[in-house]
Amino acid sequence: MSEQLRISAKNLGAMALADFCPRCFWLKTHAKKLPFQIFPGIFSSIDSYTKRVVHGWIDELGPPAWLDGIGRITGYIDPPSYHTFQMHVEQHDILLTGAADGILELADGSIAIIDYKTAKYTANQDKLLPMYATQLNGYALIAEHLKMGTVSKLALMYAEPVTDPVTARSDAVRLADGFAMPLAVSIHEVPLDPRQLDLLSRRAREIYDLLEAPARTPGCEDCDRLDSLMRLARKL
Ligand code: SF4
Repeated sequence: MSEQLRISAKNLGAMALADFCPRCFWLKTHAKKLPFQIFPGIFSSIDSYTKRVVHGWIDELGPPAWLDGIGRITGYIDPPSYHTFQMHVEQHDILLTGAADGILELADGSIAIIDYKTAKYTANQDKLLPMYATQLNGYALIAEHLKMGTVSKLALMYAEPVTDPVTARSDAVRLADGFAMPLAVSIHEVPLDPRQLDLLSRRAREIYDLLEAPARTPGCEDCDRLDSLMRLARKL
């Protein structure tokens, strides 16, 4: 076994997707940082804002009705950052990390872990469910390892922008210094099933330990584009 593999629960979850490519995984985990990786910051701003809205609502008014699907909420735990929200999976020498969006306390003394999505729930989101399920189950494992509580529920909270013409012309969105955009919330429960994590961790370790990148996925056009770029660069 080579050196410790550090991997986020989300990246481990990507291994559960139908189009997972071992070569891409090997390259990403060994290169650590890849070029052309731009992630729009607006989504993490909205996630942070959502967290503040949920916490403020619970503090001042009690749990909002749109979180009823989670269960009887009595409070929340401020989610730790990925610097501390992690655990060592000794069996595979993997450091599993993550950053939960929401950790809610429930009336029976257990906790619920929530991931916020600023998106409409579509058929494409369904395709990503295996990744989200692994991610949330990974968070449950880490939370229990850190003795934050017993996890009894996992859920995705979709916050869909409400952009219809009537809303766009309503007084509610007109502010003195700009305009607001309402978000409609829907809750999708995710099964609590940490068994898949061991299988994926073992597979992650096997791929990471390969001395060379495995073969490319047949039919993936991106590797062909990369070859063309490299041929072009050699001519310059
Ligand atoms: S085949 Fe596609 S998915 Fe796999 S390494 Fe190449 S670009 Fe990545």
